[in-house]
Amino acid sequence: MRIELTANAGKRFHASLRQAGDREIGGMLLAEQLKSDHFRIVDFSLDSFSGSHTGFQRDPETHQKTLDEFFRRTGQDFQRFNYLGEWHSHPSFSVQPSTQDINTMTEIVENQSSLITFAVLLIVRLRFRIWIEHSLTVFARDQAPQPRRISRRVVWI
Ligand SMILES: [Zn+2]
Repeated sequence: MRIELTANAGKRFHASLRQAGDREIGGMLLAEQLKSDHFRIVDFSLDSFSGSHTGFQRDPETHQKTLDEFFRRTGQDFQRFNYLGEWHSHPSFSVQPSTQDINTMTEIVENQSSLITFAVLLIVRLRFRIWIEHSLTVFARDQAPQPRRISRRVVWI
């Protein structure tokens, strides 16, 4: 699977992380599907967290509102533009997913009442206010989490 990022989204990540400083931020990843196994992150939501690292599973209402807005903007072309997963920052520790992160993502894809059977988790960290470190993990129902990298062609700044 290949996942890339538009230059605009990259710039926005950078600006958001800079602005947040030591505060943890996160939201949803919204993507365009280019091929069956090739996605491009075209947008993301930026939610305010209550300060707790484990709080990234937002309430369903906010989730749906963000999605609806994205679907409207992209002409309701769900096959092409859809939810890809979640992202958040680890401002002061490693970008590897925590146990809680893995549990939360597993719950999202294993939830039998949900349509989501596949989601990625992107964790980012701004280093020295200049570059972004990241980890990207793919979660799919009935499968073990798989670590990935964002395509190297991506420029984060
Ligand atoms: Zn985390």
